[in-house]
Amino acid sequence: MALVASEASLLKYNTFGIDCRAKELAVATKVEDVVELSQSGKLREGGYVVIGQGSNLVFAEKYDGLVLVMENKGVRVTREDDMSVTVEAAAGEVWDEFVKLCVDNGWHGIENLTAIPGTVGASAVQNIGAYGVEAKDVIESVAAYDVREKKMVEFKAADCGYGYRESRFKHAEGKRYVVTSVRYRLDKKYEPVLTYKALADELGMMGARDADTVSKTVAKIRWSKLPRPEELGNAGSFFKNPVVGKEKYEELKRDNPDMPVHETEEGYKLAAGWLIDRCGWKGRTLGRCGVYEKQALVLVNRGGCTGQDVRKLAGSIAEDVKRKFGVKIECEAEFVGF
Ligand SMILES: Cc1cc2nc3c(=O)[nH]c(=O)nc-3n(C[C@H](O)[C@H](O)[C@H](O)COP(=O)(O)OP(=O)(O)OC[C@H]3O[C@@H](n4cnc5c(N)ncnc54)[C@H](O)[C@@H]3O)c2cc1C
Repeated sequence: MALVASEASLLKYNTFGIDCRAKELAVATKVEDVVELSQSGKLREGGYVVIGQGSNLVFAEKYDGLVLVMENKGVRVTREDDMSVTVEAAAGEVWDEFVKLCVDNGWHGIENLTAIPGTVGASAVQNIGAYGVEAKDVIESVAAYDVREKKMVEFKAADCGYGYRESRFKHAEGKRYVVTSVRYRLDKKYEPVLTYKALADELGMMGARDADTVSKTVAKIRWSKLPRPEELGNAGSFFKNPVVGKEKYEELKRDNPDMPVHETEEGYKLAAGWLIDRCGWKGRTLGRCGVYEKQALVLVNRGGCTGQDVRKLAGSIAEDVKRKFGVKIECEAEFVGF
């Protein structure tokens, strides 16, 4: 049975380092724990939130429900041929440890996602992405416990509603699913994805592009730009990069010729960090929450920061960006319990 504690501190369950409480906290170390919690009536739709490492969450002072932490473990190969391998990992596996295991075994496709905090389960919920690769590129299927129907279900990747930091599991209707494991289809032959200039340049200088080197280089670049949560509380990129249509893009480019842009299938993806920086927010602090000096996309805990502090700062930034550029930026991090 999962451990259930009352009035529990969530301090060690969120990377922002917010000292908040949950009415109840349960830690599931196996799928049966989730089933038992559901059967005992503890998991009621709308009354719980599932978390991994809380690396993309901002909690209010008190969450008036059950926080379910997924810590189930296990990795196994479910299919293999000369070209590829399908690997199933439990939701509670630490994502970066899973990446390392895959790189070490010569299973390729997720090296560019090295050093992203969080769990395997959340990789499929968030469709995590970095350096030109997204989790959806390699996810084959997602297994989950359906809290409404009280049974296990499986979704093929095509049914997960994947988009940029987007999936069916992020929306109200999808919250009934507790992701229990994820299957990834990985290649044995390594085809590096070097579409990101910073990565290609760094590797070019070293003259190596094997998976292990790419993985280590990604980690090196990431930690030169991002604060480590154990040193400075944060939730990674706080805002999504906004996507605008051609007309809006041309108008903005006319007024801001140096504005970075990335053309995607959905439209013109702007750099939220650049927009925020141009509004003069980089390095500034409001209350106990600040904008990281090296990267305006990251909000950081200046000490004793509350969820309200984060919300206030995020709101002020979004208002300024809207006022200056006429562009709406949305939070990538999720507010829980507000
Ligand atoms: C320093 C730093 C750098 C980051 N860099 C990146 C990056 O490059 N790219 C990127 O995409 N993200 C990045 N992030 C964000 C974060 O790492 C990812 O969103 C990650 O997937 C969150 O994992 P988690 O286990 O902490 O999920 P949590 O933050 O605990 O939860 C995130 C969401 O997933 C849901 N969830 C979690 N587990 C389950 C489950 N088993 N079943 C159902 N729902 C679940 C939660 O309810 C919540 O909605 C970064 C964060 C930090 C702190």
